Amino acid sequence: MKQTIAIAGAGIGGLAAAALLARDGHAVTVFDKFDAPRPVGSGLVVQPVGMEVLRAAGAAEEVQTRGAPLAAMFGDEVSGNRTVLSVTYGATPERQGLGIHRAALFGALYDAAIAAGATIVPSSPVTGRDGQSLLIGGRPEGPFDLIVDALGAGSALSPLTSRPLPYGAVWATVPWPADSPFPDNRLTQRYRRADRMLGILPVGTMRDAPGQRLAAIFYSLKAAGIDAHYARAFPEWRAEAEALWPEFRAFLPDTIDHAHFTRATYTHGTLKRPFDDGLVHIGDAAHRASPQLGQGANMALLDARALQLALRQATGEEALRRYAMARRWHVWLYQVMSASFTPQYQSDSRALPVLRDRVLAPLSRTWPVPGILTRLVCGDLVPPMASLTPRAGRRRG
Ligand SMILES: Cc1cc2nc3c(=O)[nH]c(=O)nc-3n(C[C@H](O)[C@H](O)[C@H](O)COP(=O)(O)OP(=O)(O)OC[C@H]3O[C@@H](n4cnc5c(N)ncnc54)[C@H](O)[C@@H]3O)c2cc1C
Repeated sequence: MKQTIAIAGAGIGGLAAAALLARDGHAVTVFDKFDAPRPVGSGLVVQPVGMEVLRAAGAAEEVQTRGAPLAAMFGDEVSGNRTVLSVTYGATPERQGLGIHRAALFGALYDAAIAAGATIVPSSPVTGRDGQSLLIGGRPEGPFDLIVDALGAGSALSPLTSRPLPYGAVWATVPWPADSPFPDNRLTQRYRRADRMLGILPVGTMRDAPGQRLAAIFYSLKAAGIDAHYARAFPEWRAEAEALWPEFRAFLPDTIDHAHFTRATYTHGTLKRPFDDGLVHIGDAAHRASPQLGQGANMALLDARALQLALRQATGEEALRRYAMARRWHVWLYQVMSASFTPQYQSDSRALPVLRDRVLAPLSRTWPVPGILTRLVCGDLVPPMASLTPRAGRRRG
């Protein structure tokens, strides 16, 4: 049955849901607070499970044109003598990650949503709901058969209270240097214990500058210390970063300063029941985690796809129950994995990084762990929505 659907939030999950649901003939209206379409942030990784959703949404071709294929994730500790993280993706392009600038992913999803017939209404701050009407700045819009909450981590519609994580990061986008000391198909990181991390993620190109390859660079530090970080003279931080990782210098152009970096803090939590009467939560509005496993955008994409498939099978509360059931185990597993991996890379612990470097890192190179890690990062360590796609076979890494 075709429905009128309001989607609150034109982020990754909201735009994917808009494209998918409009493609199925639903009348979709998306509300976002931004004045003009505009994504926030720097780079992220689209994993193979996310790419399948982008294919279904009609956005894969543009995303693949823009993104940078990733064959591996690599990290070493500050001396450079010990490999701490080494995960390889699968051998075929379908089993690789794709580093992409958030704006490029946003642009591809935005175009796909418009092409599918969705309406996107900017300057619409969602403040709550009144039954099946959305409150936009306190004024009711609707009613709609279904409201999709895709408002992200600060959702005004979600009852989720999440736990702030002690570590955050600052991110910037820089040109990929011609003399890069690192391969351009790998996420490369360096750690000092678990209290500092520098990283380089190839993110491909932007539509308006297709000849300029880019990297997202990031520096992880205590969330409570981010203000103090910005208060430091930039050259002082540059010197510290270069001491931690001399090759990082190639990614710090002379023109860069604090103003080029965006701060990010993270929270962790999961809604037990991601739906209510006529309302469903997807993406960060339903579950939040640190970006350590590189899965947040993919989880939002998978939620959008599961909602589309559930609405093909059923209506009303039954459809929302099927959506929640289909996503439950996959979300649970990745939330548990994220909660256990994150402190190894972002915490004050002295013991965890020792365990990481001396026990877990060697173990990660010992059969069968590499294959398990490949599936973990690809996003299908367990099937992402088994009850909605019963015939989908498990893939090999
Ligand atoms: C620094 C960083 C790096 C990350 N790296 C990765 C990665 O490598 N891989 C990965 O998969 N994930 C990554 N993530 C996580 C990923 O970005 C999020 O999980 C994902 O964007 C969630 O999508 P969403 O649609 O739920 O929310 P969002 O993409 O955050 O979208 C929410 C939308 O709602 C709008 N909005 C918010 N409040 C209102 C309101 N009141 N009224 C109207 N509109 C509103 C916003 O403007 C926005 O457009 C990263 C996150 C961060 C912060």
